Parts: sequence; C-alpha cells; structure tokens
Amino acid sequence: MAGHLRKSGFALAPHPDDADIILVNTCAFIESAREEAVAEILRACSLKESGRCKAVIVSGCFAQRYGDALKGQFPGVDAFLGIDAIDRIADVARSLQSAGARRVVRIPRGSPRKVFSPPEPALRFTGGAFAYLKIAEGCVHRCSYCAIPAIRGAFRSRRMADLLDEARALVDTGVRELNVIAQDPMLYGVDLDPVRGRRCGIVDLLGALDALEGDFRIRVLYSYPSEITDAFLEWMRTSPRAIRYVDVPIQHTVPSILKAMARGGAVAATLAAADRIRAAVPGVTLRTTVMTGFPGETEGDFKRLLADIRRMRFDHLGAFAFSPEEGTVAAELDRQVPRGTAERRRQEVMRVQRSIWRSRAKAMVGEVLPALVVAPGVARLESQAPDVDGVTLLVTQADGPQPAVGETVKVRIEAVKGYDFEGRPVK
Ligand code: SF4
Repeated sequence: MAGHLRKSGFALAPHPDDADIILVNTCAFIESAREEAVAEILRACSLKESGRCKAVIVSGCFAQRYGDALKGQFPGVDAFLGIDAIDRIADVARSLQSAGARRVVRIPRGSPRKVFSPPEPALRFTGGAFAYLKIAEGCVHRCSYCAIPAIRGAFRSRRMADLLDEARALVDTGVRELNVIAQDPMLYGVDLDPVRGRRCGIVDLLGALDALEGDFRIRVLYSYPSEITDAFLEWMRTSPRAIRYVDVPIQHTVPSILKAMARGGAVAATLAAADRIRAAVPGVTLRTTVMTGFPGETEGDFKRLLADIRRMRFDHLGAFAFSPEEGTVAAELDRQVPRGTAERRRQEVMRVQRSIWRSRAKAMVGEVLPALVVAPGVARLESQAPDVDGVTLLVTQADGPQPAVGETVKVRIEAVKGYDFEGRPVK
C-alpha cells in the first residue's frame, strides 16, 4: 500500500502526527490483535479531531473480518479497505482529499482471492539490511482454532517470475537477508499451473532465488511440520545462501489435542520434527510455537507437553494461550479451559523455555559467529530471526569504527542479556 501511495505522488509521513491521512493497517486473528487495532484506530481518530490529520483509512484483516459492522462503531473513520482492495489505496486516498468526499467502503464480497506484487521501486520498512518476501496469500490448512483462512481466503501462490523480480529489486537496493514468508511456505506452488508437466514447489523457488546475483542469504519462516520435505532440508543443508533456521510451529504434542486442532495428519511429523530436522541439517536453529489451554487439555496433557518441550529443546519458543475465535470450530468445543488456567500454563511453558534458552545461550558465549548488522549497534546472528528472536548488541569503542548497516561482521559473543547477546566485532 505504501508503494502504491508513493507511486501516486503521496509522501510518507515519518509519524502519524505529521500525516494528512492516517492509514491503520490491522490484524484481527486473536483478541489481543483486535484490541491493538481498536486502540490504534481510536488514536488515529483522535488525531483527526485534534491535529493535522484530515482522514483515517482502516485496512487489513480487522476491516475484512468485520466489514460493514465497523461503520457504526467508528464514525471517525473515512474509509474501510478489504484485503482484495489494497491496490485501490491511492484512489481512495485521493478521493478523500477532495472536498465533500463521501465515506468509502471497499470490502469485496466473499473470501479474498487476489495476490499482489508490490509496485517498484522496492520499498521496505525493515531498516535496509533485510526484507520479507511474501510468496503466497491465504492458507491451505484448516486448524480448528484459527480464523486466518476465513479472513484471508484459500492458499494462493504468487508467480515465481514476480517473486524473482521483487527479490532482485530488494537485493539491488541493499537487502542482505530475504525472509521468505507465507502461512505455509512449504506448500508454495501447489495451486499454480503445472510448469513443463510438473508443479513447481518451494525447492524450485529457492533454487531460482539462489541463482540470483548478489550478496544475500535466504531465511524461510513458518513451516507446517508434515509439509517439510527431505528436498527442502537438503536445500537448507547444501545451499550457501540458506540460513540454517527452521520455524516449525508444533502447537501441541498430545495426539488427541492435535487431532482436535485438526492437525491430526501431522501428529507423527510433529513429534519427530525436532530430531528429524537436526539430523538432516547439522547446526540448525529451531523455533516453534505452542498453544496452551486448548479445549479438553487436561493437566496431564499439559504435563506431557511440558515434558516434550524439555525433550525437544527448541532454541526459541513462543507460547500462546488459546483464544476462542468466533466462527471457528474450537470456539464451540465442549470442555473449554478457563482463561486463567490457559494463561498459567502459558507462563509455565515460558518458564521452562527460559531455562532451556539460558543453558543454550550460555554455551554460545565465547563463540565467534557471523552477524548481519541491521541497525546502528545492532546485529542478528543466523540463529536470530527478525522480530521474534533476540538480537546481538554490538560492543564497540565509542570513538572506533562502527560496522555499517547491511555489513556482515564476525562477533565474539561476550554475554547473554535476557534474550539478547552482547558481542564484540573481531577481525
Ligand atoms: S496453518 Fe493452521 S494456524 Fe496456521 S494459518 Fe493455517 S489454519 Fe491458521
């Protein structure tokens, strides 16, 4: 959307206080995301009343999910844009600039169906050294707790040629780490027309990205356990561009719960995921996500989950307490777990994970590892994915040379600070 706006002659304001039009792009898949969306919309509306702002536009999943119902709830909002309408953003912004413009609602009926390629020149909000490359929209899976397929529609891959163009443009503008994302990147291409008699898949795409010119690495995030193929792991083991890092959300380890989550087909793959990936890709970093308090989860189930987390020893782990989402199967299941119990279990998971992390992190002190500088004084190791993991704070002399953003430096890990490291650049 920012790319479309800029291409149409709009300038991007550095802060909402400086903007004539405020665009609030929203998330809506769990309650905390909706609360954040509502707070930001209200903040934008109050700036419209008191500040320079003349119009507020709300886009993204919150607008898509609740559509017309939001009109009455937020009278200060001038336009609502559904997911399939994001390429109309510049038209909408322009119409709101004209005097007497009426309220605009562009939420196409039915599930989103489109895929978008951002307009060039490449634009990113991640600070220069890294970028996300979104290879598909929507989701093929139907996890019983998840509202995402209903909000964002069926899985649809972007064309490989478009992705290569976008990747090339990002690398040409200095990006050194491409983070390949989708709800499940492993299924890239399943919906595309067969190419030369066979469907192209994630490994074909990664091979084509590998072949691009330039100095950059590739990180693939969010891989559904049973869709990770040997060929993908082989790519990760052998490609010089591959960052050896797998984010494999397991959600739970008790078969009856995984079945109730509609992830029953992935039980064996879920339980074997950590061992299998480590055996195939030596030195790999593993991240996962688990959910506590899913309906029917007993204290015994939870103890089993904790024991498996201790056994699997993921490098990074995030835990969520179950949130009953309207319109999902899980919200209607019997034996809902009280919120307080789900939250207590979540905290217990994080307590266990903290001690796993600490022992892993302490063992890394003294190692010399490559790190990508992503901001002044801040770098990320291969084992640190953007936004979700910690960072490595660079220890340098104040009057000495400072590594530049986008540079890859070797750092000696000197200390662990919470979930971050401190590291000193070495020759
Ligand atoms: S894989 Fe499951 S949890 Fe993830 S987006 Fe798809 S339906 Fe939701």
